[in-house]
Amino acid sequence: MTDQAEIDNDRNFVKILDHGFVGLVDYMGSDAAIVQAARVSYGEGTKTSREDRALIRYLMRHQHTTPFEMSEVKFIIKAPIFVFRQLIRHRTASVNEYSARYSVMRDEFYVPDASNIREQSRANKQGGGVVVSHLDALSVQDCIDDISSTAYQGYEGLLGNESELDLDFTPDFKGVARETARIVLPVNFYSQLYWKQDLKNLLHLINLRNDAHAQPEIRQVAGAIYSLIKPLFPMTCEAAEDYIFEAVTLSRMDYAIMRDLIQSRGDWSVLEANAGGEEGVYSHYGISKREFVELKSKFT
Ligand SMILES: Cc1cc2nc3c(=O)[nH]c(=O)nc-3n(C[C@H](O)[C@H](O)[C@H](O)COP(=O)(O)OP(=O)(O)OC[C@H]3O[C@@H](n4cnc5c(N)ncnc54)[C@H](O)[C@@H]3O)c2cc1C
Repeated sequence: MTDQAEIDNDRNFVKILDHGFVGLVDYMGSDAAIVQAARVSYGEGTKTSREDRALIRYLMRHQHTTPFEMSEVKFIIKAPIFVFRQLIRHRTASVNEYSARYSVMRDEFYVPDASNIREQSRANKQGGGVVVSHLDALSVQDCIDDISSTAYQGYEGLLGNESELDLDFTPDFKGVARETARIVLPVNFYSQLYWKQDLKNLLHLINLRNDAHAQPEIRQVAGAIYSLIKPLFPMTCEAAEDYIFEAVTLSRMDYAIMRDLIQSRGDWSVLEANAGGEEGVYSHYGISKREFVELKSKFT
């Protein structure tokens, strides 16, 4: 596992959560390398930094993505297992994770900050809503801490080590294999992995996971990754912010509504009246109530 002093003193490490970090290990390429790859398609082309920037923005705008695949970045990430379960869904990365079959897990688990302990959201079935009271947050933290500590004591016992739990093994018990003992550890235990991905897919990951819809814990990972790659690929990141991260997409129906809204001088109530009320909007434009609410929220 990575040395704490290394993390504290190296600006290529960003601390996340209570015990985690994202560290930049290695990278290949630059904005110039992306331009160079694109030149194969577009001929001699750009010669100045201004032209490089314009070409990168053109590529990003028109989803000419392969030049961005010419650059790669490798990270070491320490995060709880439940965060890795989300991260690993991004299949375009090459990954090597710490083996809990080979090595003993550390007694290190994640307890959310009180500001991040929320009730179940009523609007979003997949997310958190309002923050619970400070007193309840303390009890939640105690509960997570107690259960995780007990699980680790179970792990120690199963490995045949001294344990605070009253376990009923025979005097001959020498412990079980690490691959079996580890199954009692909850998903808030920390693990580490190496993560290597090309820039195109890394930007896609950041777009999805450094977003308000993503769980706060993985947002910290994606935010740390972004802060580490931004100085390496400044023009590409600027273009990604302008054309991907901060871009607003419209469906065919959204577009029709916005076109008519302009005719209605930007007045939603006129648009609705013309369609025969709110229900009329849904049937006239063929959209659901939820889509209409989402569209309005993009502009208000
Ligand atoms: C807010 C949020 C909530 C989510 N909730 C859930 C959930 O409840 N349950 C769940 O299971 N997942 C969930 N996911 C995971 C999500 O469905 C994706 O698996 C994850 O975001 C990875 O996206 P990706 O496939 O585009 O990325 P990558 O796997 O990195 O792939 C990048 C791109 O490569 C291409 N690609 C890669 N593999 C294939 C393939 N086999 N076939 C075709 N094209 C491919 C696609 O164009 C893809 O967009 C959630 C993700 C987010 C951001």
